[in-house]
Amino acid sequence: MLIGCTKNDNQKYDYLILVNKQNKLPADWETNVELVEVQNAYDETIKVEKEALEKYYELRDALLKEWVDIELDSAYRSVQRQEELWKEFEEEYGIDYTKKYVAVPWYSEHHTALAIDICIIKDWVLIYENNDMIAEKEIFAKIHEKLADYGFILRYLEWKEDITWYRYEPRHLRYIGDAKIAKEIMDNWLTLEEYYSLK
Ligand SMILES: [Zn+2]
Repeated sequence: MLIGCTKNDNQKYDYLILVNKQNKLPADWETNVELVEVQNAYDETIKVEKEALEKYYELRDALLKEWVDIELDSAYRSVQRQEELWKEFEEEYGIDYTKKYVAVPWYSEHHTALAIDICIIKDWVLIYENNDMIAEKEIFAKIHEKLADYGFILRYLEWKEDITWYRYEPRHLRYIGDAKIAKEIMDNWLTLEEYYSLK
């Protein structure tokens, strides 16, 4: 690191950052973001951005009071790991398959450490497949209703696949920091892309 380049403790990064199939992760993001290690539902160690994790715990506690049990599945994935994955898939299955099923390194929101995939526990059973979660409409309605209070939004909305270029993912939560903006986005059922184009 260059002398004089140390990060100011009060200086936060931009929690509203847009990373999608057209917008790349900023080159210095990974060196600045503050990661915390935590165990997920399968007892694996995963990493999440510090403030996002704190707010996630608040969200989880609020949901527990309504008998909804959410657990962490995955969060941060490094650019390097994504590049390795891409290579492994390309060698094994070829480029066309890889392009279809593997996120392009630098263009995944999971690189930000602000995106969290959750799973749920219902009647002591862990539900972790996206399609199974889509079927749990009542539970996810309760989860989605609470997100904005803690600065989270639902990122890949139903019926908005042509904007996000992702299928509906009820489990993919995104921390954006500002609860007021999160409420505006969730109340109007907006994608982050739409929020930026309306701004
Ligand atoms: Zn995700």
